[in-house]
Amino acid sequence: MKPILKLSDIDLYYNDSNKALVVLNKAGFTLNRGETVALVAPSGSGKSTFLHIAGLLERPNSGEVEICGRPCSDLNDNERTAIRRSEIGFVYQFHYLLPEFTALENVMIPQMIAGLSKKESEKRAGKLLKYLRIGHRADHRPSELSGGEQQRVAIARSVANVPLILLADEPTGNLDPVTSEYIFRALTALVCQSGLSALIATHNHALAQQMDRRITLKEGKIIEFF
Ligand code: ADP
Ligand code: MG
Repeated sequence: MKPILKLSDIDLYYNDSNKALVVLNKAGFTLNRGETVALVAPSGSGKSTFLHIAGLLERPNSGEVEICGRPCSDLNDNERTAIRRSEIGFVYQFHYLLPEFTALENVMIPQMIAGLSKKESEKRAGKLLKYLRIGHRADHRPSELSGGEQQRVAIARSVANVPLILLADEPTGNLDPVTSEYIFRALTALVCQSGLSALIATHNHALAQQMDRRITLKEGKIIEFF
């Protein structure tokens, strides 16, 4: 079976003033179906850059990203957006929920953009919020929720369209250790229950130990990490 996500020979550099900053240097990575992988690396080592490239949010200078065996580098932006919307869920360190909408609506909106009816979207959004144990906060806006609750809504939103791949960029980075542990458990339970494949950047080694595999970034390359 083809890997669900494959990155090969990824180069990414920034040309600041007169000196190039090499962030990724022939980085490669394979995520298999149903696998959970932790990306543990110091701040500034390129985790966000790598996740953005994997999630088709950014293009590398060179290299290939394949989603379910399909190469994405030659696709135009509309085609990449379509793949991103249907196959990839993304959770950021900061939730980026829409402030003027309720928790429920925030989880409904991506589904309605994908063409589901209001009723269907509402049903799935309600179920997801319940699963993440914030059903009782569904009618509240993000500003009325705690950091942990906001992040649970963001997780529900990321999987609202039943993606194949979940990419999370330090999803518990802004939370206290107890909430962090709780959110991580909710996230991994959701991943296992729905058969998702996940790549999660985290600084928390204890949380990383609970995943199938650990990788790190060293001098712009992905290496296995134990
Ligand atoms: P991490 O997520 O591991 O903290 P990032 O992927 O955010 O690392 O950043 C990797 C490196 O790239 C850092 O040195 C950062 O300063 C640099 N960087 C990120 N974005 C830009 C940009 N738009 N222009 C120049 N340098 C950048
Ligand atoms: Mg980062």
